[in-house]
Amino acid sequence: MEANRIYNFNPGPAMLPLPVLKEAQAEFLNFRESGMSILEISHRAKQYDEIHNQTKADVKELMGLGDDYDVLFIQGGASLQFDMIPMNFASKEHPGSYVLSGSFASKAYKEAELLGVGEIAASSKDVNFRHIPTQEELKINPDAAYVHLCYNNTIYGTEYHYIPDTKGVPLFADMSSDMLSRPLDFKKFDFIYAGVQKNLGPAGVVLVVAKKSLIEKSRETLPTMLRYDTFYAKNSLYNTPPAFCIYMVGKVAAWIKAQGGLSVMAERNAKKAKIVYDAIDNSNGFYRGHADKDSRSLMNVTFRLPSEELEKKFAAEALENGLGGTKGHRSVGGMRTSIYNAMPYEGCEALADFMEKFRKANA
Ligand SMILES: *Cc1c(COP(=O)(O)O)cnc(C)c1O
Repeated sequence: MEANRIYNFNPGPAMLPLPVLKEAQAEFLNFRESGMSILEISHRAKQYDEIHNQTKADVKELMGLGDDYDVLFIQGGASLQFDMIPMNFASKEHPGSYVLSGSFASKAYKEAELLGVGEIAASSKDVNFRHIPTQEELKINPDAAYVHLCYNNTIYGTEYHYIPDTKGVPLFADMSSDMLSRPLDFKKFDFIYAGVQKNLGPAGVVLVVAKKSLIEKSRETLPTMLRYDTFYAKNSLYNTPPAFCIYMVGKVAAWIKAQGGLSVMAERNAKKAKIVYDAIDNSNGFYRGHADKDSRSLMNVTFRLPSEELEKKFAAEALENGLGGTKGHRSVGGMRTSIYNAMPYEGCEALADFMEKFRKANA
């Protein structure tokens, strides 16, 4: 780890790969011989155009998707997608069908419900979202416009380990916190979106990767900026895009490619998660994981300690040891350590060592 930097376990905005930050720093004052920084250049300039289109191409290549999918860059966070999706696709006759697996999944449903076009396909709320609803638990409405999932539940620390069979109903997924963390059969999804500040870049843009047949036409009554076909027809350049964010996402995608792609990410992420979960499982009950084992997230590890006092002490002492952002979300309590693509193995090792020492000193 670089001098003066910590291992940053924050859930988002989150750690970015150090080589990416250094590259951005090195070319900051003179972006591609333009004599300007990326923050100052026109979004219609040739130098920017190359970045924009290369980023789209790299994301699609990493996901193994072909010409029937497009990548859009939209602002307003993943939260605006909670509104745009039902506005563009759902109706009373063809509602959006939501799997409630956590806090963001429930927020997405709430927006569809506000519009009078949402229904629930399954929920694990009764067990405090400790597990991902199984295929058997899903009630698929054949008339639904889509089934909406949150693929990784950032707050509860659970993640899908299967792709639901929706019996032909289009599959939509919020992958904000596990996008590009592992290879998946992405063709099984019709619409994927991610706020990039978790695993792919700085806050400010959402990546939508969706079937062109879905996004090339929007409901005629929608305002321009809420229509997917505006972003599709104009290559996400109808209005000024957040150029710096897209540039950073492009650098992260190129970094992932250079590391060997999604299978290498998956291998590393599994190894990283294992040492942290082992530290929980081998603690004689001092650390208690929130998620059921079969639903554990490889990105966000959530656990409790014997008391809230110890949890406060854990977060403070961890930071003194160069391990930042370990405090959990207020709705689950306890600790949450986010170990996205950019977290090196050494960071997880340092965390597991610290957990062991802390337990010995406080059990
Ligand atoms: C953080 C997060 C969101 C909210 O993203 P914003 O960009 O802040 O709107 C939605 N879904 C998931 C899974 C998240 O982790």
